[in-house]
Amino acid sequence: MRLIFIYMNKFEALGLGEAIIKAVNEMGFETPSEVQEKAIPILLDEDTDIVALAQTGTGKTAAFGFPLIEKIDSDSRITQGLILSPTRELCLQITNELKNYSKFIKGLRTVAVYGGASIHDQAKEIKRGAQIIVATPGRMQDMINRKMVDISNIGYCVLDEADEMLNMGFYEDINAILSHTPDDKSTWLFSATMPREVSTIAKRFMHNPVEITVGHKNTGSENVSHEYYVVNSRDRYAALKRLSDANPDIFSVIFCRTKRDTQKVAESLIEDGYNAAALHGDLSQNQRDLVMKSFRNRQIQMLVATDVAARGIDVNDITHVINYQLPDEIETYTHRSGRTGRAGKNGVSMVIVSKSELRKIKTVERIIKKKFEEKEIPSGEEICQVQLFHLANDIAKAEINHEIETYLPSINEVLKDFSKEELIKKFFSVEFSRFHNYYKNAKDLNAAGDNRRDSGGRDGSTRYFINVGEKDGFDWMTLKDFLKETLGLGRDAVSRVDVKESFSFFNTDSEHQDNILSIFEDFRLEGRKVNVEISKDSGRNRGGRKRRDNAGGGFKGKRRSDGFKPKGRNRRDNDSGGDRGGNGRRDRRKRSDRR
Ligand code: ADP
Ligand code: MG
Repeated sequence: MRLIFIYMNKFEALGLGEAIIKAVNEMGFETPSEVQEKAIPILLDEDTDIVALAQTGTGKTAAFGFPLIEKIDSDSRITQGLILSPTRELCLQITNELKNYSKFIKGLRTVAVYGGASIHDQAKEIKRGAQIIVATPGRMQDMINRKMVDISNIGYCVLDEADEMLNMGFYEDINAILSHTPDDKSTWLFSATMPREVSTIAKRFMHNPVEITVGHKNTGSENVSHEYYVVNSRDRYAALKRLSDANPDIFSVIFCRTKRDTQKVAESLIEDGYNAAALHGDLSQNQRDLVMKSFRNRQIQMLVATDVAARGIDVNDITHVINYQLPDEIETYTHRSGRTGRAGKNGVSMVIVSKSELRKIKTVERIIKKKFEEKEIPSGEEICQVQLFHLANDIAKAEINHEIETYLPSINEVLKDFSKEELIKKFFSVEFSRFHNYYKNAKDLNAAGDNRRDSGGRDGSTRYFINVGEKDGFDWMTLKDFLKETLGLGRDAVSRVDVKESFSFFNTDSEHQDNILSIFEDFRLEGRKVNVEISKDSGRNRGGRKRRDNAGGGFKGKRRSDGFKPKGRNRRDNDSGGDRGGNGRRDRRKRSDRR
């Protein structure tokens, strides 16, 4: 007997036609994502309105793109589908995707329409026939006013990233645009979150929409821990540098609220010698591509971005998300923190807050259903320690480059009179002096929050360094438990536990100091010697010392000259992203600074 298997591709099973299947195969998609699986059959079968909630990176473009392409009559040149999307970047991304999807459908044309490029060229493209237009609301509105497009016959209108479009103040534009479309069209709304404004749009413009939700609404990833640091507003930038310096392997996205802040912070970081770059709507497409490329291949360690510019961009292995400022919309926080902690890895989302913003932390906690941990901006001494230990680890791990052997005889000649101990001391002194000089007068940047446990000052507290960390399987909670148990101390006796990759810090009351040092004098964990030392920083240099952090430069600046500088940093060189042409009303001007 012969068994005959009839093989059906999982996309075919959703009801998609041959031409798209061919394109799907070529793109290498194997299984539909959840939102695609849920949305595509419905949209193919019925002419219905739909509200689909799914986080970024879940494949929403194909979820609406595939059925839209199936529904379009490519023999007619009339515009039949309109996709509205918040930014030029996303418009281009969607247009590209749609072109790939419809590669094997003759005559189907998709045209992108967005600000900052010639409106006449775009009008010409549309005139040549565009069954699908992908547009930013501002430019679309402009083209309607100038009678350059006709959307009076469309059958489908997609609102992509609806929450973001509304965030950016496009409500009125969307309203006006939709009023030029027929009543019997279908409206497909895709959004990552469902704030009130989005439900308002849904109620106002949609008829009995089918609702689908993918994954959990508004909950942060399990692998992300949330921390906040309370500082005075004027110390935000100094705090950011410390957080970076205390995490030498940082690979991070730093979120600012406005384009101006984004540009300013990035420029300062670059000047101070960090591998940083800005990503926002005032950069040209070309510049943004360049920045993203450098970020993906790790030439940039700190990407400073606006929420909108960072939307839809996915890069793996981001270790830290830093909220330089909290977003206006609390829900945006979920997006930001979702950039890290992907693919089973752990990530940290840090928030730099001023005292007056502290209550917002509580609101965020409620929405993401997770607790924040209040942490302290590391002191200069702590950073020196971190950096030196990191260097020691790097040296231990380094592979020897045998090319160096040619030079060894003469190097050995120079160093021949020193013992190993002396060499180590000298070698590390070179590095140490650099950190130390930069940080020796650094002030304590922490502004006391309301609920700081040890607000009575830290004079009676000792800070320790211990040479176990994440790579030994500890996080701050397990290390705290381990310490309490080993030291036989009570519940709150160990505080400020800070776990780094291969070492950690913690505090106890000074009275325990001698006892602790003697316990760890000869202590082994799984055969390895565990070392505990008093961190030089114990006293916490509050007051009395000069401020240094804000004095230009950073200790990185003294060594690195490889800071990435995107070309044409002068923002005025570029298109202003002028999506709204010259008609920006005042209330919207403010909003447009978010891109
Ligand atoms: P979203 O709009 O939800 O943020 P996108 O539509 O931009 O997500 O998709 C994110 C990425 O995943 C894109 O690079 C896209 O090509 C890819 N992708 C989408 N669907 C699939 C699939 N079924 N299989 C593999 N990759 C996919
Ligand atoms: Mg998308």
